[in-house]
Amino acid sequence: MHINIKIGKAPVSGLIAALSLVLSAASFAADNINILACEPEWASLAEELGGSHVKVFSATHAKQNPHFIRARPSLISKARRADMIMCSGAGLEAGWLPILIQKGSSRIQPGKPGYFLAADFVQVLEIPTVLDRSLGDIHPEGNPHVHLNPHNILIIANEFTKRLIRVDGNNQASYTALNEAFTSKWKAAIEKWEQDLSGYKNLSMVIYHKNFSYLIDWLGINLLGSIEVKPGIPPTAAHLEELLGVIRNSNSTPIIAVTPYDATKGAEWLSGKINKTYVTLPYTVGGDEQSKNLFDLFDRTLALLK
Ligand SMILES: [Zn+2]
Repeated sequence: MHINIKIGKAPVSGLIAALSLVLSAASFAADNINILACEPEWASLAEELGGSHVKVFSATHAKQNPHFIRARPSLISKARRADMIMCSGAGLEAGWLPILIQKGSSRIQPGKPGYFLAADFVQVLEIPTVLDRSLGDIHPEGNPHVHLNPHNILIIANEFTKRLIRVDGNNQASYTALNEAFTSKWKAAIEKWEQDLSGYKNLSMVIYHKNFSYLIDWLGINLLGSIEVKPGIPPTAAHLEELLGVIRNSNSTPIIAVTPYDATKGAEWLSGKINKTYVTLPYTVGGDEQSKNLFDLFDRTLALLK
């Protein structure tokens, strides 16, 4: 229920003014869809697509490794109030999301429109053919870091808008308009980013963890290897020596890239050996000062690679 009373220069009785404030505060709270995003990239996208109808909270920030956080009580209480969750899926949050879901609201349970995993809608890379957990692989369902291919963002935005409409049908027209605006802006940005893709094909790269696979796949960069031994297993001296051998055999000087949350010791060692400073790519929204939203994130990442 909305009661529109102008409060300002027009004289209004104190009681009505107070009443209208209470009512508008109540309807504001009731109208807002609470979204618990697992990572900053999804929080940012949810805000783009939900506009003023949603209240978004990100469970992690850019300096946290989303593989390894704890389902702490404050997150559980967010999950209890959540109307929707928006997460990467494909096992990225395997260590903590199941607990949040289990203790969370009925609206975010698997199968409900409020349960949204981005990886369910895109082509997942690096799905293992043989699963050997003794290697400590934290990517048993393939690579869950799906957001760094902008074409994935487009697909995920569309699917998420459909869910918003299922959860909050009253605002269908608004969600449709927000999605259309985002989509046309995003498509124009992709066109700009892809203007000189050929430049990236000559690049080679070494990363700490396979959190840049979708970016590398999109840009056609030649990946020489990962600093960690396996996803989730820190580097050993033998592994680093082997990687250095691969780099030397490639006759290229790769970009050594880490995220704001990766350990940097291995990258520092390799950097010293090949005489090229490693670069910290923002990886997600908030990963550096410039990456304030998804558009900035891609602008900034591509600028750092060049
Ligand atoms: Zn990972």
